[in-house]
Amino acid sequence: MGVPQKDHLEQLGVQRYVLRSNSASEATGADEVALMDWATLKRQVAGCTRCGLQTTRTQTVFGVGNENAEWLIIGEAPGADEDAQGEPFVGRAGQLLNNMLKGIGLERTQVYIANILKCRPPNNREPRPEEAAHCTPYLERQVALIKPRIILAVGRIAAQNLLQTDTPIGRMRGHVYHYGPRNIPVVVTYHPAYLLRSPSEKRKAWIDLQFAQDVLARGHG
Ligand code: URA
Repeated sequence: MGVPQKDHLEQLGVQRYVLRSNSASEATGADEVALMDWATLKRQVAGCTRCGLQTTRTQTVFGVGNENAEWLIIGEAPGADEDAQGEPFVGRAGQLLNNMLKGIGLERTQVYIANILKCRPPNNREPRPEEAAHCTPYLERQVALIKPRIILAVGRIAAQNLLQTDTPIGRMRGHVYHYGPRNIPVVVTYHPAYLLRSPSEKRKAWIDLQFAQDVLARGHG
């Protein structure tokens, strides 16, 4: 006798269970990510297939910089240059970010730079909520390992995802928010790509960076 066909089983009232994909990345939950060391976390991210963006990315963009940094800079998601090079903020916006950091006496190598998403969304579209949700445990673990003293969220997408709010960025500027169990102060400023399009807003970003410097100097905002 052959293997019973699906409709035969259904007629017999037999429920069919289909095993879900058991790839390593899907099987790994947020609880496990929360315990990973740097090497394991990097490996996990490099092979991640949680949200579907692995089908269009060239490579993941984990983050870069000083793993014991006081400053953590968080952007939105890799663009074309970052997707090609595997490093965040390496395009024109990245050059401006480097200069903004220099303005407050910081070299890129002194800070840590990461994004809400580790993969480039096709055509640089905005991250979808489910993509951000899948990626969040990775960023949370990076924050826990780095233990920064201040987080600078650059751009609306970074700020809104990090702080789980839909407050417009203009209203978030100039306030101190707090992130995670360690209550790390968060300051919000404009995205350097926006500043490239609207150079007259650079003055406001400069004010935000000085504000962040102040918050750090004062301790816990
Ligand atoms: N924009 C971002 O938000 N992040 C990058 O890494 C590059 C551009």
